[in-house]
Amino acid sequence: MIGLKKPDILILGAGYGGIMTAVNLEKKLGVDDANITLVNKHDYHYQTTWLHENAAGTLHHDKTRIQIKDIISPNKVKFVQDTVKEIKTDDKRVVLENGELTYDYLVVGLGFESETFGIKGLKEHAFSIRSINAAREIREHLDYKFSQYNNTQREDLLTIVVGGAGFTGIEFVGELANRVPELCKEFDIDRSKVRIVNVEAAPTALPGFDPALVEYAMEHLERKGVEFRIGTAIKECTPEGIVVEKDGHVEEIKAATVVWAAGVRGNSILDASGFETMRGRIKVEKDLRAPGFNDVFIVGDCALIINDEINRPYPPTAQIAIQEAEVCAKNLASLVKGNNELEGFTPDIKGTVCSLGEDDAIGVVGDKKIFGKTASVMKKVIDNRYLYKLGGPSMVLKKGKLKMF
Ligand code: FAD
Ligand code: NAD
Repeated sequence: MIGLKKPDILILGAGYGGIMTAVNLEKKLGVDDANITLVNKHDYHYQTTWLHENAAGTLHHDKTRIQIKDIISPNKVKFVQDTVKEIKTDDKRVVLENGELTYDYLVVGLGFESETFGIKGLKEHAFSIRSINAAREIREHLDYKFSQYNNTQREDLLTIVVGGAGFTGIEFVGELANRVPELCKEFDIDRSKVRIVNVEAAPTALPGFDPALVEYAMEHLERKGVEFRIGTAIKECTPEGIVVEKDGHVEEIKAATVVWAAGVRGNSILDASGFETMRGRIKVEKDLRAPGFNDVFIVGDCALIINDEINRPYPPTAQIAIQEAEVCAKNLASLVKGNNELEGFTPDIKGTVCSLGEDDAIGVVGDKKIFGKTASVMKKVIDNRYLYKLGGPSMVLKKGKLKMF
């Protein structure tokens, strides 16, 4: 306990890392132990892992977002809707758009931003799947471009380019492949006129993933009309489309919709606040604190954790963010109760499942490969399990993916 005053715990961001830290803290601390405050830009938490469905228009965003008041108890956690601008660690202050908050302990869970690697024109002309508002804009844009086609006959209106065939790119083209036939029906368009082009710079889609499962994914998506451009790098984005390069050969692809899904970085607020980062992510200590700070914890995509077995960072995932939140809450509760011996964090990777649309997926769970309906059901089980952790059975019933078969 710091002095006689109840310590102030301030959590920034209500993504997987932030909201689960709050949910876990509610269980570990009583109202007399600490003042807990959660700050988030919006009054809702959203499931980032479903945003590609909202962007494609296969799932409404109201299913993806959950009011924060329906998750946390106002008696235990005070919620402040505001935008974080800067963290001033010297005097334990956080500057918000509409005010300021101080802390004794800080948890940073401000999530990811799209990484454009300085590629010309991407920031100006490409969309990215990073929030409810960004996903909603992509969905509306697609509708609008399809609606324009019959009045103009411009083929680029029906060309959708997705940059990157990592997990986000593949999951998004999987949804698009299901959505496009619906759009065609709605706007009187022949399906054969629509192109979904997935451009990947590496020599394979889903680099590093099981090759047999990658082959399954590509085959199934190609059958639904997705064109892959593998070993092809996006070099520039213009108002007319993209410029790509493969083996020294440069080509322009005209497209009215370009969605950049080729990389993420941590929130730039960390750089702006003077933390040492690698692409916006802080390489945290074992106990999840920022190096040199005994009062600042980092969770989720802002934290960089090294996989000692291969000496490379773990890919940032919701799975890891949720696990970090448990350890972070445990460590905060220890500090508040005067115990300075903190727990170390090691990710426990249960597996990876990549969806290929509503009823198809691929995955590795333990050492087992799964695909098709089995993998798709597994993905829904994982999603529902998270909702259960967040708000018990009623949350699963309200927001869960209950149509399994
Ligand atoms: P986020 O989920 O990014 O949440 C950050 C929160 O902070 C948001 O609520 C945001 O509004 C808020 N915020 C941001 N800036 C500010 C500010 N300045 N002020 C106030 N509030 C702010 N991972 C998996 O494990 N499995 C999957 O199947 C999977 N699928 C994915 C699908 C897609 C389409 C994408 C894009 C990612 C997917 N991931 C998946 C990765 C996963 O979503 C991220 O690792 C995870 O969202 C990180 O959680 P987080 O809590 O760090 O941040
Ligand atoms: P990523 O970094 O995993 O993949 C980006 C892809 O874009 C890579 O394959 C890369 O080679 C390619 N790329 C980079 N520059 C390019 C260029 N100029 N032109 C063409 N291709 C280029 O990013 P992501 O897919 O957005 O995933 C972000 C994080 O979220 C990862 O950690 C991922 O594991 C996680 N995620 C997980 C799931 C899941 O578990 N189902 C789904 C989505 C995202």
